Amino acid sequence: MPTRPKPKLNLRVLILVFVLFAALATLANSFWVMFKIQKQELIDNALQANRAYAARIASGVEQVLSSDQERLKYAATLLGKGFGDSRLLAGEAERLLGQDNSFNSVLITNAAGTVIASAPEHLRLDGQSLQDQAPLRLRQPIISKAFKSIAGNLLVFISQPVFDDKGQYLGLVGGSIRLEQKNALQDLMDRQVREDGAYVYLVDSTRRVLYHPYPERIGEIVAEDPIVDAVLDQGSGALQALDAHGVEMLAGFAQVPSSGWGVISQQPLGNIQALLQETMSKVARDIVPLALFGMVLIWWLGAKISAPLSRLADSAKRLDSPDSYERISAIPAQYFESWQIRRALLLGTSLLQEKIGRLNQQAQSDALTGLANRRAMQDTLTLWQQAGQPFAIVSMDIDHFKRVNDTFGHGVGDETLRAIAGLMKQNSRADDLPCRVGGEEFVLLLPNSSLRSATDVAERLRASIAAANIDTVGHITVSLGVSLWLPGGVSVAAALEKADRLLYQAKQNGRNCVVAEGRSLAVS
Ligand code: GH3
Ligand code: MG
Ligand code: MG
Repeated sequence: MPTRPKPKLNLRVLILVFVLFAALATLANSFWVMFKIQKQELIDNALQANRAYAARIASGVEQVLSSDQERLKYAATLLGKGFGDSRLLAGEAERLLGQDNSFNSVLITNAAGTVIASAPEHLRLDGQSLQDQAPLRLRQPIISKAFKSIAGNLLVFISQPVFDDKGQYLGLVGGSIRLEQKNALQDLMDRQVREDGAYVYLVDSTRRVLYHPYPERIGEIVAEDPIVDAVLDQGSGALQALDAHGVEMLAGFAQVPSSGWGVISQQPLGNIQALLQETMSKVARDIVPLALFGMVLIWWLGAKISAPLSRLADSAKRLDSPDSYERISAIPAQYFESWQIRRALLLGTSLLQEKIGRLNQQAQSDALTGLANRRAMQDTLTLWQQAGQPFAIVSMDIDHFKRVNDTFGHGVGDETLRAIAGLMKQNSRADDLPCRVGGEEFVLLLPNSSLRSATDVAERLRASIAAANIDTVGHITVSLGVSLWLPGGVSVAAALEKADRLLYQAKQNGRNCVVAEGRSLAVS
């Protein structure tokens, strides 16, 4: 039978490895799915929040601009009625400036664009010409693009045309908003960068930054930025894109209708990822104790499941040992497979024990007569010698047996041997051991026997064989030698030899007689 190498893994380790692998794969998979869902949710939420925030700011800016327009319109109506009154003009300019903190400066020009009244006074704008002549040409309410003033300030100019009662164009009234300075728009926009990295900024239609939490960026033209493209093209929405500085942004945006400006609320994607990592590591921290508990449970269960099988496997290695039936019976089998294997092993072990018993019996007995054979005799002698058990040896040989064979054939010879064996059994006690040690040579071992009683037994045996009428053959005789073994005396081999010598002597003495140590018994 080809032998395969013994597997190194055992059931318990296999169960543990398998279950651990399955548990870890499931855990990793759910972790990954959770990570992806959580990330998308955070991104969607951020986009939505930024979009809503940009829309709110845009509507606030729209309100500020339209209320500025309203106030200028009201002033224009008033001025149309008394444009020649320089005190009215100066007073109106002061009033517009002081009304709230919308404008950083207010000016009124004539139709040629020359400033005829202004506030505050210290800017000394009176008499100067309007930088941008477009409002004069268009004669419409206008919100200018951002521009640099003569003084180098970044401004937006909001103006209303002034007409008299007859509809004749007289000039304009306008207010400038200095973008870097504190005013109503600045108040609305002036937000710090939030903790999650979100911030809001405002661009005009020429992509110039009007407001930004980082003041140094005000006035800058944002050249390549898909988010600025989106707010100027689409008006409102949300977008995940790389900004002008190559940072991946989650942006919401909205347009201010009256000015065409764009409000952008955005935050770096990286901040979301940091938040996500924090959430996930918290989840992992919560899972670890549970996972450890699960593994201990699996280990315990693995041990419970594999214990009967490994005990059965262990017992299967020693099915030939005499106590294996009891050992296997004692193994608990709580589930079907272990019960089935235990049953099979018990059946196997009883069959094996039976077989071993039969083989032992065969090995120890003589096939023809059923008496103990030479090996069994030797084993018994060794045992008795070791136990210091005294015994007598009767050695016996059939007289002229050759003749039986020659006369009646081997079959009858064998029958005769059986008959002699039967007579030996009849003439021995339960503790005695009759043996066939050669062809027609026998030994009878008598434990705890004196030489005298052994000699008597030998004599009785001789007489009963001589008296027996054996089938076909009729009467035959035997010769016997009797010796004694005592602890501390001669060796067992010597005692056996002695019995043989005495038997030989019996042959010499004419056969059909017993010769014992020290004396001989002749045929009567
Ligand atoms: P002696 O009285 O001197 O013992 O004469 P013997 O003829 O018995 O001589 P020996 O003991 O030398 O002869 C043994 C004979 O026993 C030889 C053989 O033919 C016969 N024999 C030995 N074993 C068996 C056996 O198993 N069956 C049969 N039928 N005969 C056997
Ligand atoms: Mg012989
Ligand atoms: Mg003989």
